[in-house]
Amino acid sequence: MKNILVLNCGSSSIKYQLINMANNGADLLAKGLLDRVGLDNSKLSHKAKDKEPYETTHEVSDHEAGIDLILKVLVDPEKGVINSLDDIFAVGHRVAHGGEKFSESALITEDVRKNIEKCIELAPLHNPANHKGITSMQKLLPEIPQVAVFDTAFHQTMPQYAYMYPLPYELYEEDKIRRYGFHGTSHKFVFENACETLNLDKNNIKAITCHLGNGASIAAIKDGNSIDTSMGLTPVEGLMMGTRTGDLDLGALLYIMRKKGHDLDQANALINKKSGVHGISGVSYDMRDIEDAAFKDGNKRAQLALNMYSYRIRKYIGAYATALNGVDLIVFTGGIGENSEVVRQAVCENMDFLGIKIDEEKNQKIRGKCELISVPESKVKVIVTPTNEELVIARDTARIVE
Ligand code: ADP
Repeated sequence: MKNILVLNCGSSSIKYQLINMANNGADLLAKGLLDRVGLDNSKLSHKAKDKEPYETTHEVSDHEAGIDLILKVLVDPEKGVINSLDDIFAVGHRVAHGGEKFSESALITEDVRKNIEKCIELAPLHNPANHKGITSMQKLLPEIPQVAVFDTAFHQTMPQYAYMYPLPYELYEEDKIRRYGFHGTSHKFVFENACETLNLDKNNIKAITCHLGNGASIAAIKDGNSIDTSMGLTPVEGLMMGTRTGDLDLGALLYIMRKKGHDLDQANALINKKSGVHGISGVSYDMRDIEDAAFKDGNKRAQLALNMYSYRIRKYIGAYATALNGVDLIVFTGGIGENSEVVRQAVCENMDFLGIKIDEEKNQKIRGKCELISVPESKVKVIVTPTNEELVIARDTARIVE
């Protein structure tokens, strides 16, 4: 039985899935979330196949203790799904930043681990926890192979003129300051899934993929390779997001810092946590609340947030259609892309000059499933495709270990 354990370690949380790969990963054995790692009252929510959901509260001092708890629950005779830890074939780790070193997923050797550690300075919020997950797992299950799957890897095919920032060149040479992009596993998965569903040749197509979740990014994909993407050195650049600004005049940030006397931490909180849809609306970062406030309560700032959100996606689609010299396929994914007919409609309307025409009635019905929303005569095919980053991690892990 080839079971892959997928781990996504955040700074204070661990998400996991145990996937049986016998049927290309269609069999999800268990999934769960351990919250408040390193804080009081860590909470584990666990759901195993054909069993009642299980919740427990524990003292979990760090990631190693957290992973140990998860492994114990997985082999527990009542709540678990496997008889022993030997039933885990390999472990796949989500790693946020792979820098320039990793253009694909990698079997974790000492050399690979060191390189992931080196990327901590590029992603100080995410890579430390990813790295801790790896070293903890090496201690707990030293015999089991582990694979790292990077959010940045898919975008390593961008040409240099797309990934460079117009800063002094030495900052690239000495400090590797450049665009890397994120959500790579998701962009790749939904692109390939859409091509497969629509029977399109993924090696001969111009596609734009929109990953719209709490974080959001958009990618231009030519013949299967990412040629540009909206997130940059960090996940702040690009589209407007739940709480992040996306593209912003750097001069405006300097002006605010000077005027308000903000230090770096305050400026960081401003652009990462207090802005975006939440900052504009004053209502919420959650698109469901924004839609309710805009349409049910007539809240003007929620309406403005929605208009800004979709306008910024439209501008990127225009830019990427130019970068690609046309577009054949647009894919919507992520919590908002999969579920918000309002955002999809606002993004796609008045785009007939590009050959985009969606079926409004069909668009309203599609939630969380893989389905075409463009009309048959639309030159550009527009499709909604649920993402599944864990499945990509499990498949890559199985392929590399085999
Ligand atoms: P993350 O980036 O954290 O993985 P998701 O991709 O799960 O997030 O997206 C979460 C977001 O999806 C929520 O904040 C919410 O705004 C949005 N969302 C989920 N369901 C709906 C819905 N039915 N309508 C509009 N937005 C939705």
